[in-house]
Amino acid sequence: MSAIRLEHLVKRFGSFTALKEMDLTIGDGEFLALLGPSGCGKSTTMNMIAGMEAPSEGRILFGDRDMVGVPMGRRGVGFVFQNYAIFTHMTVRRNLDYGLRMTGRPAVEVRQRAEAMAALLNLTPLLERPAAGLSVNILQRIAIGRSAVMEPAIFLLDEPLSNVDAAFRAVMRTELKALQRQFGQTMVYVTHDQLEAMTMADRIAVMDHGVLQQVGTPLEVYNAPANTFVARFIGSPGMNLLPGRLAETDRGLAVDLGELGISPPLPDALAAAAHGAGRPEVTYGFRPEEVHLVETGPALRLPLILAERIGARTILHLGRAEDAVRAVFQGNPVLPEGVLAIAPDPASLRLFDAVTGAAIRGG
Ligand code: ATP
Repeated sequence: MSAIRLEHLVKRFGSFTALKEMDLTIGDGEFLALLGPSGCGKSTTMNMIAGMEAPSEGRILFGDRDMVGVPMGRRGVGFVFQNYAIFTHMTVRRNLDYGLRMTGRPAVEVRQRAEAMAALLNLTPLLERPAAGLSVNILQRIAIGRSAVMEPAIFLLDEPLSNVDAAFRAVMRTELKALQRQFGQTMVYVTHDQLEAMTMADRIAVMDHGVLQQVGTPLEVYNAPANTFVARFIGSPGMNLLPGRLAETDRGLAVDLGELGISPPLPDALAAAAHGAGRPEVTYGFRPEEVHLVETGPALRLPLILAERIGARTILHLGRAEDAVRAVFQGNPVLPEGVLAIAPDPASLRLFDAVTGAAIRGG
């Protein structure tokens, strides 16, 4: 059983608390991404799962086995770091089969497994080449293969793609997902890149300042962010968040957005939840890709600062440069001159408590 359970996990370095009471269960065979900005505690969490750091408080269980006190070498985990650690004086084959040879397995099995891994990671033509002189991209691929070939039940990867180039990263995302599907390991993947997390993970654990903010599938964290931090962090660009105040209008409850105008009326379920939230100040959120340009009716009226045309899509920056509202459209829309009127798709609207940042859920 290779489910991982973190119970009330805390890590302090002196008086600084890097991880504040984390409770998280990672299912057997699940691909979980630990996602968050630099310094939020991702690597600290991972290092405790691996056994490189001891928790200050709490427990780590693999299945039913309490791992606290069990040294790294006895945890049965594979680990790949940001910086590949491979033997440059050895060939690619020797790097790939190093761990297998150390276990004293039969030579035939060692050869077969190393060659199967080389095929999976497109390393076959390089098997007899010395690792020295190969590109950073390839070295990181070898490092992943060398760990994966041991078929660990738990595979931990800490920012393994942050040093490889963008095109190669896209290829590796597909390969890593394929690798995990093939071996069915429990995979924990640390990244600050939401695109990596969104494309590969079964679930994402979003962290900030040592606190777990939300755990959910990529679509859950995208569609129903638990708070403004997750709303802004997930998505490219992130969710637009505007300060506002609930306002009764003759068409129903809306949000007064100050100089941007009054929002279109809120959908019924959201209006009911907002009524019940107990505070008129709210944060009004909508996804940049879920807005329409409108000619009449309630809308947010904003001057266009910049239109970024990025191949198949256009990102409009509207309002003020320092806190621009973004709107994303497919293709190259024809834009009116001057001020644009946009209306968020009602289904994409989100409200958050203006003080706590917590989502106000409607329905
Ligand atoms: P990054 O991607 O930048 O590594 P992270 O989310 O992985 O970010 P951690 O490396 O887990 O963050 O660090 C969390 C916090 O704990 C940071 O503020 C870091 O400075 C601090 N920290 C980590 N290790 C130690 C240590 N050994 N001693 C003191 N503080 C530490």
